[in-house]
Amino acid sequence: MTKFKETMEKMKQMSDEERAAAVENLRSMCICPTCPTYNECAKKKDELLFCATGKSFMCIHFEKECLCPGCPVTRELGLNNMYFCTRGSEKAQRYEHTIWGAEMK
Ligand code: SF4
Ligand code: SF4
Repeated sequence: MTKFKETMEKMKQMSDEERAAAVENLRSMCICPTCPTYNECAKKKDELLFCATGKSFMCIHFEKECLCPGCPVTRELGLNNMYFCTRGSEKAQRYEHTIWGAEMK
């Protein structure tokens, strides 16, 4: 089982309170606000942790650069993808890759 799947399984076993605390911890580690792609709109709406929550909700439309590969959350969750704010969550991108036949790590 991949690290990402293991982590998702662990989170599924958590109580609602434990899961909320884990998500809050991951949000505090998110470095999106330092990324050139992140913008004022996303900041005002407190958008973070796109790798889990999926695309930005009507704030981020253009990709400039993505700092996700260097984010501690990438190591913590075992993420393979990036540009989550414009391309969707890790889960969504993995699903799309299986549909389009891209190799999964
Ligand atoms: S991997 Fe990217 S979207 Fe996920 S927490 Fe880190 S910077 Fe934010
Ligand atoms: S998901 Fe990647 S591209 Fe989008 S704001 Fe976060 S670091 Fe930047």
